[in-house]
Amino acid sequence: MDIKRVFENNKVWITRQLQTDSNYFERLSQGQSPAMLYIGCSDSRVTAEELMGLQPGEVFVHRNIANMVPNSDLNVMSVIHYAVDVLKVSHVVVCGHYGCGGIKAAMQQADLGILNPWLRNIRDVYRLHRRELDAIEDEEHRYNRLAELNVQEQCINVIKTAEVQKAVYERKLTVHGWIFDMATGKLIDLAIDFEKITKDIAAIYKIVPSEVSLEMNM
Ligand SMILES: [Zn+2]
Repeated sequence: MDIKRVFENNKVWITRQLQTDSNYFERLSQGQSPAMLYIGCSDSRVTAEELMGLQPGEVFVHRNIANMVPNSDLNVMSVIHYAVDVLKVSHVVVCGHYGCGGIKAAMQQADLGILNPWLRNIRDVYRLHRRELDAIEDEEHRYNRLAELNVQEQCINVIKTAEVQKAVYERKLTVHGWIFDMATGKLIDLAIDFEKITKDIAAIYKIVPSEVSLEMNM
């Protein structure tokens, strides 16, 4: 890649933006109020804004290997906190993709150093859905199903956070699980039944606001 080209492209982009709106950068610098938090994979082929046709300012983005939401990852938890509590987004999306290298790597035995604990989170998803996944004979099909189930489990991790539970209750925040199919370019809504999942896990993960739990302890 020619790095010079990046700066040339930037100049062309500035000119093009100003041609359609002479106040574009003035408005952009005034602040952001995105309606969506998008959590996706770092894969270079799975861009966030471009595949959704969104512009700068419209989506708050977090990307990591295999679009994970580990409960103790300070990075993704800070992003969720800021997007939900401060930016007040209305939608949280976890978007996975077929042909995900992170999912494939987790299914292989190779020692990948610092990646091992990260990929272990995906192996946990496999363990939870082992019966269904082991019954799929075609390897490619099994990886793709794991990518879907991983999106579902990461959405559950989103729902488990106190910020999201509060926002779902108070202002009807919605959580979505999607898959990007690179072979066709299509974005697929996995139509995960969050109402059912939330009810199923409520007894375990429900977080009572601190004022109430303090009263309960006294
Ligand atoms: Zn990926």
